[in-house]
Amino acid sequence: MENTIEKTLNLLLELQDVDTQIYKILQVRGGLPQEVKNLENELADLQLQAQSYQEGIASLEENISSLRVKIKDIETLVKRYEEQQMNVRNNREYDAITKEIELQNLDIQLAEKKIRENYEQIAKNKHTLEGLNDLIQKAKQNLTAKQQDLNSIIGRSQEEEQKLTKKRHELESVIDKSLLQTYERIRNKVRNNLAVVLVKGGACGGCFTTIYPQMQAEIKEKRQIYKCEHCGRILADVAEAITIIATEEDGQLLAAD
Ligand SMILES: [Zn+2]
Repeated sequence: MENTIEKTLNLLLELQDVDTQIYKILQVRGGLPQEVKNLENELADLQLQAQSYQEGIASLEENISSLRVKIKDIETLVKRYEEQQMNVRNNREYDAITKEIELQNLDIQLAEKKIRENYEQIAKNKHTLEGLNDLIQKAKQNLTAKQQDLNSIIGRSQEEEQKLTKKRHELESVIDKSLLQTYERIRNKVRNNLAVVLVKGGACGGCFTTIYPQMQAEIKEKRQIYKCEHCGRILADVAEAITIIATEEDGQLLAAD
């Protein structure tokens, strides 16, 4: 008959097995998800820069339009002055109008200079924008390629991952909350993702530290949950015979007869 501790330990072993399989799936994906995210950020950043240059160009073009309107207005004014000049009664009035026309023509010149400067700035912005658009094209191609890589890897393991995730939720719902937290804490701390291990060949299945016979006997009795004194992993059982040799590196859960 399974006692409560034994039941709990078996659930933890199951959970560990599920997590080990998920861990392997994620390892195959490696850094790809992060790479995709980085490329997405890079692309968004470039697009934002391009947008700001585009807005800059639009505003310079608006400036040019309003300067042209201004020049037209001045030209109309100058024409009116010239007409007035035909009908002046004395030289003083004539000179005064001449002076006014000169001032207005200076304004026209100034506006024309500003228009030229705006055009120069537009050319510069357009040049920068072209460079940005090239970078955007390249970033898009890069992103598409990486996304395809990632999608094909995810596609291959998606069904399995969903099954495992579902199983994990089921196990989570029946395992004691504080024990789950302990499990997660150990798992996050250790290198090979194993929080629950078996005693194998007289040693902890996680860190290979010797577990003394008396302790092994107690672990087998399953009256309480024991942890490896060296690595803190939960020692769920003692394997009598080794069927699979696991190493610290491959994160394999030890299976026993
Ligand atoms: Zn250990």
